[in-house]
Amino acid sequence: MKTSLFLVVIVAFVSCTQAQSKNAKKFEVIRTEAEWKKMLTAEQYHVTREQGTERPFTNAYNSNHEKGIYTCIGCDLQLFSSDHKFESGTGWPSFYKPLIKKNVEISKDGAFGMERDEVHCGRCGSHLGHVFNDGPKPTGHRYCMNSASLKFQKI
Ligand SMILES: [Zn+2]
Repeated sequence: MKTSLFLVVIVAFVSCTQAQSKNAKKFEVIRTEAEWKKMLTAEQYHVTREQGTERPFTNAYNSNHEKGIYTCIGCDLQLFSSDHKFESGTGWPSFYKPLIKKNVEISKDGAFGMERDEVHCGRCGSHLGHVFNDGPKPTGHRYCMNSASLKFQKI
């Protein structure tokens, strides 16, 4: 009982400090929780606003091989291109680099006891996924994204 309470406190503390670091930044696109809920599906809201992770393989863009641009579901900012997409085998759409570097921001995520680099939209703060250092050449990066955070526009 005591141990579980301790864990709850730790989790609450971690979530709190994360929220503060991200909320400290003023994003260009700001919406209320009610506005986000109105414009997004329940899954899109969970992933982008609550830093959720969608299920692997069954998501919309994991197996998408069409040429096009992936924009932010929250504000339409151009984030990734099919030119930089690769088969990671993880079950989520993966890119070795963003289309425009400044459109994608990275912050430290200590959730679940793992130190990971959280990726979010530079204009509206929507959570997109995480970036890892086990990607292919030329960058060696693997931007592991949630389809729910993206909108595909075919070229
Ligand atoms: Zn955005």
